[in-house]
Amino acid sequence: MKLSKRIQNVAPSATLAASQKANDLKAQGIDVISLTVGESDFDTPEYIAQAAIKTVKEHTGDRYTPVNGIPELRQAIADSYKRDADVRYDLDQVFVGTGAKNVLFTLFQVLVDPGDEVIIPVPYWVSFSEHVKMAEGKPVFVQGPYEDSYKITVEDLEKAYTDQTVALLLNSPSNPSGVVYSQEEIQAIGEWAVEKDVVIVADEIYSRLIYNGQEPVSFVRTTDDVRNQTIIVNGASKTYAMTGWRIGYALGNKEIIAAVSKYASQANGNPTGISQHAVIAAYNEETDEVEKMRQSFEQRLNKAYDLIVSIPGFKLANKPSGAFYLFPDVTEAAKMTGYDSVEDFNLALIEEAHVVTVVGSSFGISDCLRFSYAVDEATFAEGVQRIKEFIEEKR
Ligand code: PLP
Repeated sequence: MKLSKRIQNVAPSATLAASQKANDLKAQGIDVISLTVGESDFDTPEYIAQAAIKTVKEHTGDRYTPVNGIPELRQAIADSYKRDADVRYDLDQVFVGTGAKNVLFTLFQVLVDPGDEVIIPVPYWVSFSEHVKMAEGKPVFVQGPYEDSYKITVEDLEKAYTDQTVALLLNSPSNPSGVVYSQEEIQAIGEWAVEKDVVIVADEIYSRLIYNGQEPVSFVRTTDDVRNQTIIVNGASKTYAMTGWRIGYALGNKEIIAAVSKYASQANGNPTGISQHAVIAAYNEETDEVEKMRQSFEQRLNKAYDLIVSIPGFKLANKPSGAFYLFPDVTEAAKMTGYDSVEDFNLALIEEAHVVTVVGSSFGISDCLRFSYAVDEATFAEGVQRIKEFIEEKR
């Protein structure tokens, strides 16, 4: 039996592998603290669950739907941008797919030919580079300075650009760093992309999870020319605690949206009808449960940040303002406890302190570890306490 070169070239998802590692240890009866998760720990809000129950009972979600999503859902998504940013999108500018991850995968399938380059700022979410490789493209990594939370600038892009560059992936708020670009920075990057005719894929899946007075920032709020050069990717997973429902979307340039639809018509078919009806309610009937979840993450960030920077040898240049991760540089802590690398330090944390995080190399920066604070505050505090005791013992 032979497997394709394509699949042999793909790295398995490091975040899913880390969660699995934590589950394996738990199954062995070990009391493990897992700070690996990339999802909200809240239940999906009741008003959304009720909409899904209604759909099941009334059999309105039983059948195939249009490949690009039920028009009412595409309208609800377009309306949310009209409401929030006063920007109008037509229905043929919206594609609804099976989660943002699959939407991103499909986008790279339609944008990238073999050998084409896609610029990806580091640190990056684990799937971006693999999606580009699965399209036989070449990820080109660009990293800004630690002091600026690794944010990239137009000058960095200029250096990375070649004749082969077809797209730029920008994820703000970022997984794993939590950094949020300013509206001015986004506009400048957008203008550069227009000038070079590089498509911007803007992963804004955490756009509603912003904290401590951070203004909403989005490619939707740029000028018409930049907006037309951009495909926004977003979805219900993070905002509405709906990761398992698998609804994400792409928004923007009509030609690209039509191409994504054509690909999906052969590769996927439609996303689940029941989930689509639930997400229509999520957008159109939003209650204050959604804002309460955001407030809870804000509170957890504020506590988790103070705890993380209080660990000897852990450093963070800035406090993040979005998503639900902290991505400290821990090289000093590794050194002070006698480990040659952060990978080894991380293994020891798992095996001896029984705290599981995700190692930074999977996000392109081997000096860091990614901590998710989408867990209850006591669990996070206990994880930090164990790490402190571990460091105290070893140094
Ligand atoms: N983009 C980023 C940056 C993410 O962190 C995630 C999930 O972790 C996704 C996309 C995928 O979201 P979805 O659940 O809609 O597939």
